[in-house]
Amino acid sequence: MKFLPVFLKLEDKTCLVVGGGEVAYRKIQSLAGTHARINVVARALCPEVEALVEQEELIKLASEYDPAQLDSCDLVIAATNDEELNRRISSDAHDRHIPVNVVDNPGLCSFIMPSVVDRNPVQIAISTGGASPVLARLLRARLETLVPSAYGKLAELMKSVREEVKQKLPVQRERRHFWESVLQGPIAELLLSGQEDKAISLLHQHLEDPAKHISQQGEVYLVGGGPGDPDLLTFRALRLMQQSDVVLYDRLVAPAIVALARKDADRIYVGKQSDQHAMSQDEINELLVKLANEGKRVLRLKGGDPFIFGRGGEEIDKLAESGIPFQVVPGITAASGCASYAGIPLTHRDYAQSCVFITGHLKDGKLDLNWQALVQPGQTIAVYMGVGAVRVLCESLINNGMNATTPVAIIQQGTTIDQRTYTGLLSNIADLVEQQDIKPPSMMIIGDVVKLRDKLAWFKEPGDN
Ligand code: SAH
Repeated sequence: MKFLPVFLKLEDKTCLVVGGGEVAYRKIQSLAGTHARINVVARALCPEVEALVEQEELIKLASEYDPAQLDSCDLVIAATNDEELNRRISSDAHDRHIPVNVVDNPGLCSFIMPSVVDRNPVQIAISTGGASPVLARLLRARLETLVPSAYGKLAELMKSVREEVKQKLPVQRERRHFWESVLQGPIAELLLSGQEDKAISLLHQHLEDPAKHISQQGEVYLVGGGPGDPDLLTFRALRLMQQSDVVLYDRLVAPAIVALARKDADRIYVGKQSDQHAMSQDEINELLVKLANEGKRVLRLKGGDPFIFGRGGEEIDKLAESGIPFQVVPGITAASGCASYAGIPLTHRDYAQSCVFITGHLKDGKLDLNWQALVQPGQTIAVYMGVGAVRVLCESLINNGMNATTPVAIIQQGTTIDQRTYTGLLSNIADLVEQQDIKPPSMMIIGDVVKLRDKLAWFKEPGDN
């Protein structure tokens, strides 16, 4: 059977719900936002429905159903667990031409209720025509991840200037182009990233001379791609990746993640290895500005989190100076990703009350770190870029008073199918790195929390049984 999807206006209408259990409560919740008057008929009410009656959100008409209750009613929902009663309600409603929904019984319904992705006033309704409510729910869960939570706000903002745009752009085609440029460009992105004031002021700038702004203004998304597993991307990262015109990525970003960017986006590899730069940092900064000034939506995709040993701050510094709209999307940083996938909690009530992130990047063969702060007890040290400096690092920690038997883990290519975790002690881990030829990208975790791995390891690594 095929249904006609419609959205019913129920303001000041009267709805009757027969039944007062949890199923009825879910239906009542769907009705609640419509400003309908809701009457309930039920022998017993679950606590949630009871609370709504107490708050005068709905009225309990009676304990027993009576067809007379349908007299002034515009819509009925039968949500009792008495099949015979549900059947009677459906029949009475049909006789009176009142739309009726009977839970879990599409045959008795004159309308069915969809699964809804609600971004009021935007609503996406999903129906399988009653074939599989679970499938509808799963689909809904997928859409929930795709539609940003601030879409409702965006729709409200568009509504607030709709008339003005109509007057300024009387030609429909131009108006459509204007809306497209607003909804796919920096105004929408500013709003979705919580910069409402900036979005409104940019929208008003556009409204002063709408025709001029029909061509898009460029912008930059500085996005953290996480440590490797594409499933660890954020919803926002994925959405921006799929709407970018050009992608600048470096070596650390896993190919599987770069592949998720829009298929026809230009991809620019900007290298970046600690010793050899395919493009200098200044060149990257300049390129971001140049591409955005050409009106492009530029994705600057970085490994992990852009603000943790990622020079993200430098890249947006130039953008801020040039007045180019940008946003920063955090990613799961390597310390966090590797620790989780290796079964090593970075903090733990019994072993570590703090955690520090450091870089093992050598300057003239030396490590310039605050050793006293690092050798504190009850602290986990997460070392980025530490493989090359492992010997200097461990010796310095021991020389500054850290116990040589402190456990250490090295996680190579964490969160990917090639993840390998090695464990040892502060006194012997440097030898292990040489023997096993451990290579970057690898994360070192130093501290008693490493002991927990024996019990908590869950992610299967190559070579595990
Ligand atoms: N901004 C990134 C870090 C960049 S520095 C972040 O937040 O994760 C690069 C270092 O990160 C590497 O040398 C390595 O120490 C660590 N790293 C990044 N990805 C990793 C991975 N998948 N496995 C292990 N270490 C990783």
